[in-house]
Amino acid sequence: MDFVKEFDNAVKNGHIVAYFQPLTRAITGSVCSAEALARWIDPDLGIIPPSEFISILEEKRLIYKLDLAIIEDACKLYNENRNMNLNFSVNLSRIDFEEVDMFSLIENILKKYNVPSNVIHLEITESTMIYNTQKTKTIFEQFHNAGFELWIDDFGSGFSSLQVLRDYEFDVLKIDMSIVQKFDINSKKILYSIINMTKKLGIHSVAEGVETDEQYQFLKNIGCEIMQGYYFSKPMSKNDFLNFVRYKEIESKSESNYWNMAGGINFLSADPLKSLSVNDDVISDASPLALIEYTNAKIKYFFVNEQYKKEIKKIGFETVLELEKAVNDKKYEYRESLVRQLNNSIIHNDIQRVDNIINNTVFSHFTKLIANNDDKYLIASSINSISTKRTDFLVLKYSQSLYKTYDCVTEITPKDDSAVQIYSTAGFAKIYGTTSLKQGIIDFASNEVEEKDRERYLSFFDLERIINMEEDYIQDKFSIRSGNIYKIKNVRISKLDDGKFLYTIQSI
Ligand code: C2E
Ligand code: MG
Ligand code: MG
Repeated sequence: MDFVKEFDNAVKNGHIVAYFQPLTRAITGSVCSAEALARWIDPDLGIIPPSEFISILEEKRLIYKLDLAIIEDACKLYNENRNMNLNFSVNLSRIDFEEVDMFSLIENILKKYNVPSNVIHLEITESTMIYNTQKTKTIFEQFHNAGFELWIDDFGSGFSSLQVLRDYEFDVLKIDMSIVQKFDINSKKILYSIINMTKKLGIHSVAEGVETDEQYQFLKNIGCEIMQGYYFSKPMSKNDFLNFVRYKEIESKSESNYWNMAGGINFLSADPLKSLSVNDDVISDASPLALIEYTNAKIKYFFVNEQYKKEIKKIGFETVLELEKAVNDKKYEYRESLVRQLNNSIIHNDIQRVDNIINNTVFSHFTKLIANNDDKYLIASSINSISTKRTDFLVLKYSQSLYKTYDCVTEITPKDDSAVQIYSTAGFAKIYGTTSLKQGIIDFASNEVEEKDRERYLSFFDLERIINMEEDYIQDKFSIRSGNIYKIKNVRISKLDDGKFLYTIQSI
């Protein structure tokens, strides 16, 4: 068939139509968009795929007519099903911009069917953009300002992908199906890196050509937001498409915005929560890292990143130099443990971890041997710290054995009239002694201690007596509330240091 000769008639007679392929939100499985793809339906030859006529129409500079016809089809479908919240991506060709004023022509079609500009997304392949950088930029800005989304199509299929990303602003990046479908270890690493890059750039991601569950799961797990491919559905005629989405969840505009926010998070980041703020500090979410050279028991910090510097400040070192001096000083209390860890890193090939508790903060220090030359060993070091409130920290430290043994554990400081409840599993009416220990004792006695034992409890808990107590602990049995009844429980007050005592209640 002579496509060029037949083309105008085919458009006029409605033989050129859009097929629609759904796009699926990876983490919800809802249909979030659809791509409109051209099909030439010839009364004699049947359905002709675009591979047969796109390039010849581009060559003859007629492609803009086809693109506009497809956009019109998408707008009609939107207009006939307004309650369905559909939105579409359409394909444009480089030649379009050279031949006609695409912006005005597209705006006219949208006006004709009363379609908002955020319903039609413009897919542009990277080869479209290597020419006329400035002119293309101006046109893209025009579309952006009018509220259209610009999607880069077939990313990674050509030679200029990175140049295109550098020079233009895109909302969505569609990864070329060749990378998705190869799916060997190199392709997976490339996919991983592309997704990482989209998060850094703050662009959303679509994978094309997803055909298997394995590909879908992998892409979902690395944070790729949207899937398109035969695994979900082939491109369909308008009616088949409507039937298909009738039984599916379709994402509303507000849901799209909602899930687009989630798309900002970098699943691959060492610190995913920090990755949410796209900012100019490109390494803001890196992990703490230092490179240590270890030679004959001498420790030298060769490289220390900003995150690592923050961690050493928490241990009390203002500079790397101070840290280096300390760890090389035999009197420094953690030197021995550090040297042992570095030696273990040299002997064992895996990551070594040592935890220390300094200033109510748990520091986990990780080290791994990277390289060795003569007596020099290059060791990578990372620090992970969790600081906690005093009570949480104590619970963390003693939790397992405490829970098993005691109903309630409270640290009391009579000289300051204060108390800190570490935990209670007894279900008392409230936490006692938060403002005053003295008041807490009185309240506890009247709320939780059975009346017959109340006087005895109060004289047991005489603060003068406790402050001056000689023994390591005192204890006695009292009838104490346990739900709706009273039970005999053992109350013990044990001496700690610094004028502190541990108050415990234990069921018998
Ligand atoms: P594209 O824009 O990258 O569209 C995706 C192509 O991949 C479609 O082929 C689609 O059917 C196919 N595809 C989708 N999922 C899978 C999958 O899981 N496996 C495989 N093997 N293929 C899948 P189609 O419809 O034949 O279109 C081919 C290309 O023709 C399009 O690639 C696009 O560049 C161009 N094209 C299609 N319609 C238009 C149009 O209206 N205007 C312009 N300028 N180009 C168009
Ligand atoms: Mg496309
Ligand atoms: Mg594509």
